[in-house]
Amino acid sequence: MRIPDNYDAWCEYDRRQQIKLDKLPTCAWCGSKIQTEEAYVINDKLVCRDCIDNCKVYLDEDGEVYA
Ligand SMILES: [Zn+2]
Repeated sequence: MRIPDNYDAWCEYDRRQQIKLDKLPTCAWCGSKIQTEEAYVINDKLVCRDCIDNCKVYLDEDGEVYA
């Protein structure tokens, strides 16, 4: 009989992490798993924080967009 070693424990941990990850919602824009505690709903679709942050622009005092 084989005794489970650290590698087996790691495989088991990895497998459980993957199952957890599979249950997470997917961002409608970038397709990645949403691992944060919050997300955004845009047109009834879940969107991750990173995508929302990427949409952010800054406006100068004339209302012009600058990078
Ligand atoms: Zn996203």
